Amino acid sequence: MRVRISGIPLWGWAAAAALYFGIAAAAVEFAWDRSIDVLAEVGAHRLDLYAASLRSELGRYETMPAIVARQESVRALLAASPPVPPDLLQTVNTYLDAVNREAGSLAVDVIDLHGSVIAASNWDQPVSFVGTNVSYRPYFKDALAHGSGRFFGIGTNTGMPGLYFASAVRDGAAPIGVATVKVSVDALESAWRTPAEAAMVVDSNGVIVISTVPAWKFMALRSITAEQQRGIQASRQYAGRTVEALPHGRLGDWGAKAWFARFPDWTRPGRDRRYLSMSRPAPQAGDSIIILLDVAGARRQQLVALAFVTGGFLIVGLYCLYAIQRRRAIAEKLKAQDALRNANDQLEITVRQRTAALLQANERMQQEIAERARTEQRLRDSQQEVVHAGKLAVLGQMAAGLTHELNQPLVAIKTLCDNARTFFERNQPGSAVANLERVSRLVDGMANLTGELKTFARRPDIERVAVSLNDVVAHARLIFEARIRAEAVQLDVRIPEGTTVCAEPSQLQQVIVNLIGNALDAVADQEKRAIVIDAGEADQHGRVLFTIADSGTGIAPEVLAHLFEPFVTTKPRGQGLGLGLAITLRLVEGFGARISAANGPDGGAQFSIQFAAATTIVQGAVHG
Ligand code: ADP
Repeated sequence: MRVRISGIPLWGWAAAAALYFGIAAAAVEFAWDRSIDVLAEVGAHRLDLYAASLRSELGRYETMPAIVARQESVRALLAASPPVPPDLLQTVNTYLDAVNREAGSLAVDVIDLHGSVIAASNWDQPVSFVGTNVSYRPYFKDALAHGSGRFFGIGTNTGMPGLYFASAVRDGAAPIGVATVKVSVDALESAWRTPAEAAMVVDSNGVIVISTVPAWKFMALRSITAEQQRGIQASRQYAGRTVEALPHGRLGDWGAKAWFARFPDWTRPGRDRRYLSMSRPAPQAGDSIIILLDVAGARRQQLVALAFVTGGFLIVGLYCLYAIQRRRAIAEKLKAQDALRNANDQLEITVRQRTAALLQANERMQQEIAERARTEQRLRDSQQEVVHAGKLAVLGQMAAGLTHELNQPLVAIKTLCDNARTFFERNQPGSAVANLERVSRLVDGMANLTGELKTFARRPDIERVAVSLNDVVAHARLIFEARIRAEAVQLDVRIPEGTTVCAEPSQLQQVIVNLIGNALDAVADQEKRAIVIDAGEADQHGRVLFTIADSGTGIAPEVLAHLFEPFVTTKPRGQGLGLGLAITLRLVEGFGARISAANGPDGGAQFSIQFAAATTIVQGAVHG
């Protein structure tokens, strides 16, 4: 697996890192080179400046001893044989003092051939050179030998360092003494002093004689040989001090004119530091001028360059990352669009396939519907048969009921007829007629009962009319009258007067007979035997809710779910076929009504029929 960070492969990061380090290294090196070059240029200028200032500062004193040597009074003083005339000595001393003041030098002396200072500008000062012997000083020896001398040293009397210029005083060709001028270098040192740079002048011994770092003064940059040490001691050049070496080292060249050197850090004692070092010959002061330039500026430039490169890299890197992310986002968007298009295409294909499948299914369904319709028709036909069969079953019950119901009036009629004959025989025609009238009424009642049987036996027709609910219930009640009385059932009918429902009269009769019959069966074994037949007022659409509730056992839950299915019965064999409610359902549906069953809150069953509005039907057809 390829490892990616922010979407960029590892090799990409590695390449970027390599590029960064390469560029950073080059920039740092370039900054260093440039800065050191600039520093070297500055150094060269500084050296020029210092050399020029040495020349101008010291050069103007160079000829001074020769001028003093030519002074008449000086020559006269040296030529005079002792004892020296005090006036002349005074004249020379005064002259030397005046010259010294004018020139700004440290001291101007006149020395005799033995090396004794016989006149000095500071003749009247507490520390006067007069009487001092300087015959061991090289400048004295050089002046006598070669006419002039130059020497850097520390004054043996004053302890002040300075540059000595000397010139022979001659009488004709022969030297009769030496005139010297001592110059201070303090002004130069303070003029050269800058914080980022050290400047020093070394003499021919390699000893630092002028230094902007005071601590380095009279320390040697070269190792001093024993012979040199002896010479130094003899000339008391450094006022008897032992010359110590200044620890330093050369680290490497920078071009032909500069080099790196390690020197003690003058700003932080006890530490070493690397400096860019340059030198220039300085014949006026001894040997050469050396400057040490602080490279901290170059280091800063390196840091700046590094910061620039890093900053630039960060900006470029961030831009690249942004560009990559953007490209990726665009690519992903395009991909998503492609995917969406593909999905759409796929969807279309699927929709087409589904539509085709749906059409096929639809076709199949149409066929199935046609098949169902045929089956339903067949079923309806057979159900009509079953309804008829159910009716016959009820007829059976009715026949039993009727037999019982007719038996009683028949016995009564027979008795009444027998009595009527007896009344006739006794010639009591009034009583006989009264008996015959009662017979007639009884026969009327029997005719009523048999009329019901006729109604029931008719084949169903499906004409729906507005049927008086009270009439139908009354007829049905008549059928069960004997049983109701025998079993002491309390049948309560609460149907508002004139309530009509939409139904076929004989079928509704059958429905009500079925429901009352079942209710009577249900309460038969109960202590309390009550049946309530109820019908509310028609609602705003003319629909009537009919209920018949009983105080029976209620419908068992397992029966309730299949109540309206054919051949569902809990009654003993021979008593129930399980067809009653199945036929009832068919009939009720035929009226456009709905039947439902439930167990009432007090335990008995409750059947409800929601009749369709009867208002649409011609009112004249009310059954009665
Ligand atoms: P059958 O009366 O021949 O059993 P039905 O279809 O009329 O057939 O009734 C089916 C069954 O429904 C009955 O056997 C009885 O268990 C139950 N049933 C019907 N009416 C009631 C009722 N009012 N109370 C309790 N159970 C009833």
